[in-house]
Amino acid sequence: PWSTIQATDPTDRRVQDFHRTQRHQKGNSSNLELDLDTLLSQKYSDVELRVQVITFRFQDAPPSQNAPQPVLDSSTSLEGILMALSGDITYTGCGRCSAELDTDANGIYSPCYPCLPHTAVRRYYPGMLTVSGRGCSQVCVQVPPVPLQKILDAPPDKLPGSEVKHIQVAAERIQTLLSLPRKTFIITVRSNFLCDENSVPISQDFTLLDLQFPS
Ligand SMILES: [Zn+2]
Repeated sequence: PWSTIQATDPTDRRVQDFHRTQRHQKGNSSNLELDLDTLLSQKYSDVELRVQVITFRFQDAPPSQNAPQPVLDSSTSLEGILMALSGDITYTGCGRCSAELDTDANGIYSPCYPCLPHTAVRRYYPGMLTVSGRGCSQVCVQVPPVPLQKILDAPPDKLPGSEVKHIQVAAERIQTLLSLPRKTFIITVRSNFLCDENSVPISQDFTLLDLQFPS
């Protein structure tokens, strides 16, 4: 009997699944630079992305009775950014792991149990970026305290506070991120996808590990 060979239809779901697993195996080892749309379709973990920053906001420090932090974008003036930076943007956390700490009735910070006997506390500010790739996809990226401190080039102990110089530097850095025409930044993100049994993502979240600021 004769057997026949056919070219596979590239749109066939089985072909796509095959390519996806192949790419997955290759992609596990190191940081890859990818387009945002590719990341969204591929579900890698740590990757470098070329993105444009659409918005930035400080996260509301819970528990907070204050007004929510404003969303800063390309239309925000330097004064608006300075105003956001002068608000209540920091929280007090464990000096080792940056977990937020509660205070007791006397205003004493409770220790961070996983980090005992380490009991130092520090000020932190967490943030959130919205970024877009070449396509039209946009995602929110959590910015933990350490990379944010690097982006703003100012230690949180100095913000907000008397050090006008540090606030000015941080405000100009935020403006550089957001101003038009948009610049392309290389960011490293850790992505976390929760998928159902058909590998359809149910939820996804992204955490910034690094943002290379043009010097
Ligand atoms: Zn800790």
